[in-house]
Order: sequence, then C-alpha cells, then structure tokens
Amino acid sequence: MPAYDDDNIFAKILKGDIPCDKVYEDDHVHAFNDIAPQAPVHILVIPKGKYVSIDDFGANAPAEEIKAFFAAVAKIAAEKGITDDGFRSIANTGADGGQEVPHFHLHLLGGKHIGPMVSKAA
Ligand code: 5GP
Repeated sequence: MPAYDDDNIFAKILKGDIPCDKVYEDDHVHAFNDIAPQAPVHILVIPKGKYVSIDDFGANAPAEEIKAFFAAVAKIAAEKGITDDGFRSIANTGADGGQEVPHFHLHLLGGKHIGPMVSKAA
C-alpha cells in the first residue's frame, strides 16, 4: 500500500483548497457530488482521516470513524431518496481496481439502473 499523499485532490478538498459541491459533512465524514457523474445520483463519501484505500481504512481506522462512515452512507442514501429503488456503492482500490484518487472514497450511484457489476472482458 502506498503512503498517503497529502497533495491528493480529495485532501485538497478537505483542506478547502479546492471547491466541491458538498452534500454532507460531520466530524469524521465528508461527501460531495462527483465532478463527472455517471448516474443521476453520484456522490463520493470520504473519511476525513488520511486513508489511502478501503483496506487501509478497514485495517487502521478507529471503530468510531468506521461507524460514522457507514452511518453517513445510510443518511446520505436516505436523504437522496435512493434506498427504495437501490443504488450501487463502489470502492475502487489500487491499480487493478482503477482507483484514480488515493484517498479512500465510496462512490454512491443511483437514480437509474446502474447496469452490470463489471465489464465482461476477461
Ligand atoms: P476513483 O477512480 O479513484 O474511484 O474515482 C475518483 C472519482 O473522483 C472520479 O469519479 C472522478 O470523477 C472524481 N473526481 C476527480 N477529481 C474530482 C474533483 O476535483 N472534484 C470532484 N467532486 N470529483 C472529482
């Protein structure tokens, strides 16, 4: 796992160095609309702590932060009205996972049928 990069784009959003379209914030969690949405609802939920990836978060975050993170996911999904019809949550991880931004984030995609889970290409 790479070391956390303090200059990654989500770190800059957390520091307020670049703007975002915020949808939720609490002591441990920040969430904002994806700049290039791939569904009518496309929100990125991120911990405020410095975690590179979902495995870093799961292994190293205190229980309070993990609980806050998933409680926020539930609140945001309910507020956005995507719990009845459903939604997809994705945590791209590392090179094979196609992760572009090395700060753990969960994509919440909803508002339409999201399609197949992965491409059929081997
Ligand atoms: P990843 O491929 O790392 O799972 O996803 C990174 C996501 O961050 C992409 O969906 C991309 O559109 C989004 N993104 C990249 N830069 C920015 C930004 O400056 N602001 C926002 N709101 N989203 C961004």
